[in-house]
Amino acid sequence: MDARVGSATFLLARVCTLRAWWHHREDPQPLAPDHEQREQLAARALAQFPDSTMIDSTNVETALKESRSALSDPNAKTILNAVVKWRALIARIDILVAQPDGGFQQILVGAAKDTVPKKRLRDLTHPLAVSAMVLSDLGLRVHSSLFLVSHRYRKGMDDDQLFTDIDRTQPAMTLGQQLHTSANSLIDEIVSESPPTARLVPGCRDCPYYVERCLGKGVAYPVAYLPYVGADKLMALDQAGVRDVADIPEELEWSDAQDVMIQAVKKAQPWMDEGLPAQVRALKEPRACLDMETELVAMPVEDDARPFESHVKSASVQWNTATEISHADEDRREHDLIVKVVQATAAAATVVVYGDAVPRALRRLSRRHEDLASPLEALTEKIVDLRELVVAGFYHQDFHGSYSLHRVAEALGIPDQAPPATAIASVLEAIEGWGGPTDE
Ligand code: SF4
Repeated sequence: MDARVGSATFLLARVCTLRAWWHHREDPQPLAPDHEQREQLAARALAQFPDSTMIDSTNVETALKESRSALSDPNAKTILNAVVKWRALIARIDILVAQPDGGFQQILVGAAKDTVPKKRLRDLTHPLAVSAMVLSDLGLRVHSSLFLVSHRYRKGMDDDQLFTDIDRTQPAMTLGQQLHTSANSLIDEIVSESPPTARLVPGCRDCPYYVERCLGKGVAYPVAYLPYVGADKLMALDQAGVRDVADIPEELEWSDAQDVMIQAVKKAQPWMDEGLPAQVRALKEPRACLDMETELVAMPVEDDARPFESHVKSASVQWNTATEISHADEDRREHDLIVKVVQATAAAATVVVYGDAVPRALRRLSRRHEDLASPLEALTEKIVDLRELVVAGFYHQDFHGSYSLHRVAEALGIPDQAPPATAIASVLEAIEGWGGPTDE
């Protein structure tokens, strides 16, 4: 087993050491490429430092050797992609700029806009804290910054206007000191031959190993899928050996929504508010179902778009038959697509969507395409969010704590079908004709 631990694996261990242990064995490359969007942004940031020393080896030992040599070279004013090591921990630093005081400013390029909420800013600071910890341990004074994409940037501007430099020296140092106190034991657990003990934690819910091989494996209704369960309650369930929602002791207290989910499992019976089918049947005819697939695009692709705005990639409309609408060309122009959506839904009295993604996309689109503002407003006024109705009035034990369209359709026995607008229509139909047990 490779004893070198990448900083992403190390940070996972703060959530769950067993998850980090598995991740380390399956993805042991500490210098593995980042996700695509961050790679692209990092390449643009690095291009702004033309007279610099680039460490481009993907071999850890070579990269470490070249980085050590650059760090001790007084002529190397800027080092790109430096790799540093502390015990088994390997950290890569996007940009290191020598400072007049003999220290370095480390810069991490974040795949986010400079207006991110505080919590996301803290998360983005974690890798900086790891490298701050390693650099401090090497005896180097370190300032830490995040390069985040400026919300003022627009297509066509120069790259020197693309990033905002956000000073994170103090938070990175404080977090780095905290990490330092547990770093030795976390690394020991990650590289240990035997796996750490599995414990129910909030991270289990989204852990890729949960039902595949860990505490949810072979469990009919895995308890970590219950939403909004705090660490304390999960610990109590863990200590009581509870793995399945069906085995939750009666004495524990839950919110009303959680209680509905638990009772549905215990009674092996879905719950539906008795008014819901009538409410759905009362939706004005004729109806169309609409779904849009969007993607978050870091660099603006349309003249007036902002960085990290979502763009509509495709849409589907169910109106008697299903219509799938895609882009007419490759540069993600949305205008033609949205005109087709407006035409396909024009005669509908109700447009049923699932979730708030479509209304949000329509608001954004009317800002971006002024000529479409009026038809988009008319479309928005006809929208009914089926997810809101389901959350308020329906729970099937096979939702497993999720109201995603996929999970709801699956629980209702609706075969996996594309396009999504057809799945929305099928859920609507299933609720209208609901013959199962209802609220009494
Ligand atoms: S399921 Fe939970 S205990 Fe198991 S590896 Fe994932 S986070 Fe850790």
